[in-house]
Amino acid sequence: MEHMDWGNLGFGYRKTDYNIRSYFRNGKWEELTLSTDENISMSMAASCLHYGQECFEGLKAFRGKDGRIRLFRVDENAKRMISSAEYLCMAPPSVEMFTEAVKKVVLANERFVPPYGTGASLYIRPLLIGTGPQIGVHPTDEYLFIVFVMPVGPYYKEGFHPIKVIIDRDHDRAAPLGTGHIKAGGNYGASLISGEIGHEKGYPSVLYLDASHKKYIDECGAANFFAIRNGSYITPDSHSVLPSITNKSLRQLAEDMGLKVERRLVEVTELPTFEEAGACGTAAVISPIGSIYDPESNQTIVYGDGTKAGPWSEKLYHALRQIQLGESPDPYGWVTIL
Ligand SMILES: *Cc1c(COP(=O)(O)O)cnc(C)c1O
Repeated sequence: MEHMDWGNLGFGYRKTDYNIRSYFRNGKWEELTLSTDENISMSMAASCLHYGQECFEGLKAFRGKDGRIRLFRVDENAKRMISSAEYLCMAPPSVEMFTEAVKKVVLANERFVPPYGTGASLYIRPLLIGTGPQIGVHPTDEYLFIVFVMPVGPYYKEGFHPIKVIIDRDHDRAAPLGTGHIKAGGNYGASLISGEIGHEKGYPSVLYLDASHKKYIDECGAANFFAIRNGSYITPDSHSVLPSITNKSLRQLAEDMGLKVERRLVEVTELPTFEEAGACGTAAVISPIGSIYDPESNQTIVYGDGTKAGPWSEKLYHALRQIQLGESPDPYGWVTIL
């Protein structure tokens, strides 16, 4: 697509040529079919509209240095959607079906995969919803699995800049034994208010603490939290944290770089002791955290000088990006070349 200004694309919805769909009806998944229609039609009584039978995924396709298209850990996204679907009593697509849908829809929209070197990528959004009419409170028996794609711009247009974060003790993203560990739209619905309040106060992201004690760190906005201290990569282990594939990958790379990986309860009182802190997820890989404001103590914890990413965050970010772009070897088979 010659006319596309790849470097200045944001993260807005944009129609592409095709999406791919399959319905689960009469106890089985129908064939995946490509569609040019960006709308879906369903009963107003569909279970996704009333009782939250909805989950989704997010991953990216990259144009590598060699010009080939790469998917990053697509099998992990498939497995996570299966676990989300099972918790929400929905029919899950198989790993094979999920992967086939992603491959087909990316290839069908190949002209939207941004060129290597632009920093842009093709964002892939798999979605699973209950479409059967269901007013009695039970799971429905008809589901739609749909995957659409859109080109998105580079996350860091002006370099790898740290963000300001505020601790939120007034809202919980997820309950201790609730749905925090699955990628359900409902979790996002429940977290919009704290995100909006944070934004109004000038903080692009909020830090959630564990719902029962307000003592441990849970997540940073819709991303996992990690920190670096004394040769360790430290990240919260909690049932209400979404198992981030980026975090899983960073833990492996951290270990390979000689860092010790600590996945455990992380107390909020540890925040001032960290050398670096960051949020991680598919969208940005790493968002370095420059400072964290705690409204309870009225104190701000600053990492470095607050305006520059720390050295380990830089190293980890580049190591992961290089694998995604085919600039360095892929020793763990994370990449699927189309
Ligand atoms: C999707 C998501 C993440 C990041 O997961 P990745 O697999 O790394 O993209 C982190 N936290 C929440 C709440 C999420 O929904």
